[in-house]
Amino acid sequence: MSEVFVGIDLGGTNIKIGCFDSDMKLISKTSVATKADMGPEVVVDRMAQAVEKLLADASVCLRDVRMAGIGTPGPAKYKEGIIIDAANLPKFKNVPIRRMLSEQLGKPVVFENDANTACWGEYTVGAGKGVEDMVFFTLGTGIGGGIVSNGELLHGSDDNAAELGHTIIYPDGRLCGCGQKGCVEAYASASSTAARATEAVRSGTASSLKKLLDEDGQISCKDVYEHLAAGDELARQITDGTAKAIAIICVNML
Ligand SMILES: [Zn+2]
Repeated sequence: MSEVFVGIDLGGTNIKIGCFDSDMKLISKTSVATKADMGPEVVVDRMAQAVEKLLADASVCLRDVRMAGIGTPGPAKYKEGIIIDAANLPKFKNVPIRRMLSEQLGKPVVFENDANTACWGEYTVGAGKGVEDMVFFTLGTGIGGGIVSNGELLHGSDDNAAELGHTIIYPDGRLCGCGQKGCVEAYASASSTAARATEAVRSGTASSLKKLLDEDGQISCKDVYEHLAAGDELARQITDGTAKAIAIICVNML
């Protein structure tokens, strides 16, 4: 087989791994539990073992692997290959993840912010293929971003150029996890969408979500969208708020 590349997404819950051919076509993929509480050495071991098993299952030799790339949530020193302190990986403080994984696999490893990694993937083989400039958002527990400008990923000072989730769209608005008020993440992330719905139900707004909150003690973002599909008016208002917040940041980025 010609050259193979391995991509790894290190998350707080799961490690997702894919191997790709030289045209960046997916050959095979897998996911294993991170077990972040066992510390970085164990996690890197698990990662390397999962890579080796994935390659073996796909009948790919490790010697055909040219390099591996790993994406992690920040903050990190990407140039130095060090995770400084990841919120979802509590035992990962100043971990030289790039060197550790490179030693385990015996291959060169590149290391990037996970949102930047996803952005670069879309730029090279996905929605951004063929353009020179693009903006990318990840919508999940938080809101991440990536920016490609003149064909290059924008890093900026301390690699924070594309922390787009913390763009303020409503001054003096909702408190964000970062300490600012009115960030887009405080309105449109999955957790903020769920939180806004929960607050509205608790404050007495009529909604089919009330029964769910009474029974389960919580409302998820998925619940909100399911109740929207079933015609609930509060769910419509909440998801309109999510869409509006995303629209504002998109227009600003344009
Ligand atoms: Zn924020």
